[in-house]
Amino acid sequence: MMKIQNIGDRGVVFSLVDEFSYPDYYCPANIYAVNGEEKIYLSDGYFGSEILKEVVKYLEKEFGKKQYILFNSHFHWDHIRGNCFFSNEIIISNQLTKDLIIEKNKDKSKLNEAYQQRKIVLPNMTFERDCTEFEKDKITFFHSPGHTEDSSSCYDAKNKVLFAADNIEYPFPYVTSSNLSTYISTLKKYLKSPAEIVIPSHGYVTDKKLVEANLKYLETFPEIDSDMYADENKNSFLKGIIQNFTTIGEDYYVKEDFEKAELYFEKIASINKEESILQEEAVKKLESRLKEIKKRL
Ligand SMILES: [Zn+2]
Repeated sequence: MMKIQNIGDRGVVFSLVDEFSYPDYYCPANIYAVNGEEKIYLSDGYFGSEILKEVVKYLEKEFGKKQYILFNSHFHWDHIRGNCFFSNEIIISNQLTKDLIIEKNKDKSKLNEAYQQRKIVLPNMTFERDCTEFEKDKITFFHSPGHTEDSSSCYDAKNKVLFAADNIEYPFPYVTSSNLSTYISTLKKYLKSPAEIVIPSHGYVTDKKLVEANLKYLETFPEIDSDMYADENKNSFLKGIIQNFTTIGEDYYVKEDFEKAELYFEKIASINKEESILQEEAVKKLESRLKEIKKRL
């Protein structure tokens, strides 16, 4: 199911509701469209062709036939999937995003099976820090590392709307590296901007309150504030926490900082001891990881 929501006088958010959601976790995928003078800006290339056809049909009906500018916020597969549908249009990203798409798709055997056969269409316009090419329409794209080092955002200055992609998530962001300082600086930059509406790639259209909550989570990481899951399903919340601890633990493990790695895996073990969240398989994996770490300490 796709939900359509108007934002200000020229924005539309298309939310694909089911694909990433679970019974206890509402996780829509959003495309933010901005109707400029002569162009329509799409952030970002989330959906497959069938759904994009519907999106374009809707936009044409509302705003007429226009040129499309498709923005790729970062290299993750789910965000570049729509590129093939817009291969004759401008596809814009940070240079790093383009480099990473090339790099990550070099070895097809490492790709998720569902993606192996798909055609990869690369961005055909890139920027380093900011792209001010579309100032006439008051649209800027800018580098905002956090969720990934290449992550970028789109800002619509006319309606004060920030499309923050995967950098902002409810109730807290997923981390992909143990270096959180860059991520923290990006969220502080978001807070300083005049944005009034914040659109994450997943979840409800929101505002700076969620940016503040995400920032607090990262600044106090790995502490967990129990208010954070006051309204949440505790199990799915803790699963997310475990996922972040696993990512950071693995990151330290690879960097051979075994003391820190141990700390994170022990935290997971203690959460699981209290709440029994992990499946048998995952518990075995965790135990063998901890054994490995202790050997190397
Ligand atoms: Zn991502």
